[in-house]
Amino acid sequence: DATVERIAAGEVVERPASVVKELVENSVDADASRVEVSVEAGGTERIEVRDDGVGIPADDLELAVAEHATSKIGDIDDLEAGVGTLGFRGEALHAIGAVSRLTVRSRPRGADRGAELRVAGGEVVAREPVGCPEGTTVVVEDLFYNVPARRKYLKAEATEFSHVNAVVSGYALASPGVAVSLTHDGRETFATEGRGDRRSAVMSVYGREVAANMVPVEGTDEDGPLAAVGGLVSHPETNRATRDYVNVFVNGRWVTASAVRDAVVEAYGRQLASDRYPFAVLDVEVDPATVDVNVHPRKLEVRFADEDGMARQVRDAVESALLAEGL
Ligand code: ADP
Ligand code: MG
Repeated sequence: DATVERIAAGEVVERPASVVKELVENSVDADASRVEVSVEAGGTERIEVRDDGVGIPADDLELAVAEHATSKIGDIDDLEAGVGTLGFRGEALHAIGAVSRLTVRSRPRGADRGAELRVAGGEVVAREPVGCPEGTTVVVEDLFYNVPARRKYLKAEATEFSHVNAVVSGYALASPGVAVSLTHDGRETFATEGRGDRRSAVMSVYGREVAANMVPVEGTDEDGPLAAVGGLVSHPETNRATRDYVNVFVNGRWVTASAVRDAVVEAYGRQLASDRYPFAVLDVEVDPATVDVNVHPRKLEVRFADEDGMARQVRDAVESALLAEGL
């Protein structure tokens, strides 16, 4: 029933940033080369994610917002094998539609027109053909308008926006080949060019000074659980006072991996004041069978089978990178 659905939706949708995360993942999964995110009032009033990906056929729109609808997974074996796409639960659009006013507008590549579906509080309220560019635009308005208890827990707009910014930055850095932009209340926060190289993505997201001072990390250790560790970390003097700038990609997915973050910070030893964090863009390659991405329904936090071994490898790789630069 509707109440149960709204509670279940809360497991996926905690705040504007979790909506943005799901929508951006869908765009990346849809093979987009451009993803434009624009939010109003920190995302509490309006979130729009527009992509030029494969699109959704008009006849599939309703299925896309239905419960457990996914086009991305054949059977349970795919789950075990570690799916290649980012999202695979088939519950995000459904959950978002249950707690907001949701519009999905899409035109598949090569189709001569598009279609739009509107959902409010879980009910389909309109479905019609529309003229629109190829790709998909999803608009989420009035998040939690029908769940006052949740709406009340939203933080100040600036705080909600900082979470949105962290998520979009993470995906922009994870996919430097995709042009990702973020706009807040009509002002562009950043835009990457999508040319494919990490350092120019870092420059677009964090600015020229940070990008110029990044130190390359490269490390493999045959004895540890990780197949490879690589990326860029900041010069100790360009650090900032938040963890949000430590971006970790596990097998290409942007995730929250507290243990990896901690290991990166530890590698700086005494060089960082206790309330400071480095900038980092770190790729970790690992056998998918030894990492658990399902510890939380929001799919953010991941756990490694051998957390200590993983942390040691990350710390060693970052330490040697800093040492090599004489830092
Ligand atoms: P999941 O991503 O887990 O499959 P979602 O609820 O996020 O579930 O999306 C449901 C389905 O809607 C997807 O499997 C996909 O077929 C379609 N879809 C959603 N967003 C997009 C998009 N931006 N471009 C193309 N297809 C999309
Ligand atoms: Mg999804």
